[in-house]
Amino acid sequence: MSPSRTDGRPNGRSRRARREAMRVRKVGDAAYEVWSPSGHVYDVDLDAGRCTCPDHRFRGVRCKHLRRVAIEVTLGNVPAPGEREATCNACGRSLFADSDDADPVYCEDCELDPGETVVDRETDSLVVVVESTDDRADEVEVPERGWTVADHYSNRDYDPGDRVVDVLYPLPRGVDPADVSPRDLRRYSFPRGRLARRQ
Ligand SMILES: [Zn+2]
Ligand SMILES: [Zn+2]
Repeated sequence: MSPSRTDGRPNGRSRRARREAMRVRKVGDAAYEVWSPSGHVYDVDLDAGRCTCPDHRFRGVRCKHLRRVAIEVTLGNVPAPGEREATCNACGRSLFADSDDADPVYCEDCELDPGETVVDRETDSLVVVVESTDDRADEVEVPERGWTVADHYSNRDYDPGDRVVDVLYPLPRGVDPADVSPRDLRRYSFPRGRLARRQ
């Protein structure tokens, strides 16, 4: 290794980390594969700050592969440790979901917000979102029924593993909530897929 080489300098590494045609793929929780333009594949562990390339193993430097993985994660091109690639169940867009969150998942735009008025596809009526939960329809019981949201007769066409969204039926115009029986203010739990945004 001649001392006149410039690629050992930190600024050389960070420049090449940004510019070289490396490809990065996530293969484990904090594990990434990096393909160099020369065809070599190196394994990077982002949490441990380790790479299998000679630059890191023999010189102990923060090599261009480690830097490149960090850059790709920051730019949102590959999932961060603890995240995985997923597809939004409503719009089909790609997103990064928590590794612990099973499908179906929803992107930020498709997650229904509390207070939002949406359409119940089964009845075409408008309902108000109280809460978008992380619970599965086949794990949430319908109160006083003894079966789950997924097993409820009007929900059987929807994914039993779908997220549960709690809603209220809006009161007719001019009705004071104080005048209504608690029964009419009951929360209903629906699979997310049963609810649609208004066009
Ligand atoms: Zn490396
Ligand atoms: Zn979406």
